[in-house]
Formats: sequence, structure tokens, C-alpha cells
Amino acid sequence: MLTRANTPNLENYWMPFTANRQFKAAPRLLASAEGMYYTDVDGGKVLDGTAGLWCVNAGHGRRRIAEAVERQLTVMDYAPSFQMGHPIVFDFAEKLAARAPGGPDARLDRIFFTGSGSESVDTALKIAIAYQRAIGQGTRTRVIGRERGYHGVGFGGISVGGLVNNRRVFPTLPGTDHLRHTHDPERNSFVKGLPAHGAELADDLERLVALHGAETIAAVIVEPVAGSTGVLLPPKGYLERLRAVADKHGILLIFDEVITGFGRLGTPFAVDYFGVVPDLVTTAKGLTNGAIPMGAVFARREIHDALMQGPESQIELFHGYTYSGHPAACAAGLATLEIYEEEGLLTRGAELASHWQDAMHALKGLPHIIDIRTIGLVVGIELASREGAVGARAYEVFTDLFKKGLLVRVTGDTIALSPPLIVEREQIDTMASMLSDSIKRVG
Ligand code: PMP
Repeated sequence: MLTRANTPNLENYWMPFTANRQFKAAPRLLASAEGMYYTDVDGGKVLDGTAGLWCVNAGHGRRRIAEAVERQLTVMDYAPSFQMGHPIVFDFAEKLAARAPGGPDARLDRIFFTGSGSESVDTALKIAIAYQRAIGQGTRTRVIGRERGYHGVGFGGISVGGLVNNRRVFPTLPGTDHLRHTHDPERNSFVKGLPAHGAELADDLERLVALHGAETIAAVIVEPVAGSTGVLLPPKGYLERLRAVADKHGILLIFDEVITGFGRLGTPFAVDYFGVVPDLVTTAKGLTNGAIPMGAVFARREIHDALMQGPESQIELFHGYTYSGHPAACAAGLATLEIYEEEGLLTRGAELASHWQDAMHALKGLPHIIDIRTIGLVVGIELASREGAVGARAYEVFTDLFKKGLLVRVTGDTIALSPPLIVEREQIDTMASMLSDSIKRVG
């Protein structure tokens, strides 16, 4: 139980994406973290079924990252990011470039650093528009997203995003439009592997080309696997087809890999999993194991090079952040990359994927479950809505599991899990059996 002694004053902090009043009436407070576990302020252990918020891929409390950050902060805490550099940011970009998505012939190895996933998305959209202009396609200013897409909370991100609650209160960028989403539980429920139906939905881009004119469209952005909106997998052949339609019309393809990047699917990037290479890839989260905020946009060389025109004294892209390539974040990122490589974590999900899939699909048949979707080390367990209360049932499962010591995530009626990539088989089994108990109990 929370006591006065271990509960902070909750008044001043305005919590993001949280029902603040509900939370503050019954707070859940985490105090420390190690390996696969959090410890709450009362000393209770909580198994981390979500790698924090899809970001702590190498598990918690990695000394090597902490020491690298401490060392860097002691040597140099900060350096201006505009018109100045420091060696570690170039080193980190070089190391990332060698592992960048795209394979040896088409690596996206030009890297722009940001401070978060939202900033990566807005950066990628701006790079796409600037690139089109640089190649004489200045009328291409529209960006296309997809229904049920989540691309962060910047004005660019909510404009291409497809979540009504993130959009209805705020104005969005003019000219944006959306592909239809691919979620179709009637045709594709309880599928193991990729959904068989729906590749033709990629042709929706043709519809938008017919509606707006290709000459107005700069880029289309999708999550290869949509995470935050319920773990939605691309139908077989969908991403290939989207690539082909985009190519046909001179539209850049952007993959938002903020969740799927850095091993989540059992491959370094979703690009590797699906074998479809986009023009720009957005990342964050696993880039630094969540330890220090940072994002990165990976771009094809041609895109970068097209923007390196004009007088050398001129700034080529009027865009950047105070914390782009922050030295401490680079130190965290370099240490994270070393851990991923030494421990084989970027492909460990592939070794565990069938165990994960079997454990999660064994929940089929429990009350309320209308679909189970797994890929790599991710699952979405979709529950039927209780009448008039979308998400209520999943939220009850979440609160019940937290009390019992398992952290899961809820998005609408879907319970999502994405554990750190260091997870052991027994821990996967524990997660499945705790899920089963809680789902059985919910009314
Ligand atoms: N894109 C995707 C696909 C995401 O899942 C997220 C965060 N969950 C973001 C962008 C935004 O990242 P951030 O919260 O770091 O701004």
C-alpha cells in the first residue's frame, strides 16, 4: 500500500497521455528497475512486459550505458549542435550507418539526430518535402499517412496520424490525407504470421493520387507494424505493393520504425524483416535503450545529396534541434549498440518468436478475446468492447495485472506486450499465465 512516506506530492506534475485525476486518486509509482523488473515504491516487483514504452530493449539498469553517459557528461556535458560538432556524434553516426536499414546496396546511411520519435517524424516529413523541392518538384508538399497510424504528437505527426483523439482538438497541416487502415479482424483473426487478406489496400495510394494529383504529394508514411494503435500487422504483400505504387508516382516512402527499430521483430529493423526498403526511416526509443531521449532519421544517400546543393556557405536544411546529437545521448547510443551486438539482441526476437507466438496464441478461447496478433516479440490481444465502454475491459486487465506484478500496455480494447529482448522463455510463460488469470476474471 502507498503510504504518506513513499508517496510524493502529486499536484504539480501534469502527466502526459494520462487520465490525471483518475491516476492521482490511485497512483502507480515505479521506483527502480533492473533487468526484466521494475520495483514499485512499496518494494513490489513488477515484470516488465512492455520494455518501458517499447524502448528498453536491452533490459533495465545497464551499467555500461550509465557509465558511458557519466563519462561523457564529465568530459563534455553539452556542445552547440548548430555550426559546431564533437567527435562522438560523428562516431555514433558512423557506427549506426554500418548497420543502417537497407542492405549493402541501398543503405539509408545519412543520419539526422533528433530528441524523440515525434521529432523524428516531423524531421522526416520536412526532409521529404525539401528533397522534392530540391529535385524540381516543389509542388509536392502533401504528406499522406494512414488511418490508425501513430506518428507522435508534433503537428506533422498528428496530421499524418490517424487517431481521432489526437486530432480532433487541434488543427492539422493542410493537404494531408490518409490511406485506409489494414485492420480487418473479420477476415484475418487469430492468424499466425502475416494476415493473408488486404494487400490490395496499398492501392489506396492510387486513389489519393487520382484525387489530389501525384504532383502534389511528397511522401507517404506508415508504421510497418502499427504498435500504439493495437499491434496491427501488414497484410502479406502490402508493403511491397505500397513501395511499387509510391515509386510509380515519384512519392517518397517513409517507414516509422520508432517501435519496430532495434530488434523488436527479431531483425534489426522492420526493413530487414519485410525486405522492403523505404526512402526514409524514423527511429527513437531503442536507439538509446530508452536511457536518454534521442531519435534518428535514416535517409537514402540520394536524398541527402540532393539537399547538399547550392553555395557551400549556405545552410542546406533549415531544421534542427538544440539537442540534436546530444553528447550524452550519443554516449548512451554507442553503449547500447555495443550491448545489442555483443548479446545478439537485434536478432534474439527471431529465436524466441515461435515460443512467444505459441504462448500467446494458447490464450485463444478465453472469454472476450476476439483476436491475437504476434510478430517478433510483440503481441496484441484484442478484447471485445464492453457495451458503451471502449477499452474498459482491457484497462481492468491492465490494473489487475499491475497489482499482481506484470506491466502491460493498453490501447483501446487491445492489450499489448513487447518485453525487453533479454526476456527468458520462463518469463514469457509467466506473462501468458498471468494474462490468462486476469482475462478470465474480468467481467
Ligand atoms: N512513431 C511511432 C510509431 C511511435 O510508436 C511513437 C511513440 N510510441 C512515436 C512516433 C512518438 O515517439 P515519442 O513519444 O518519442 O515522441
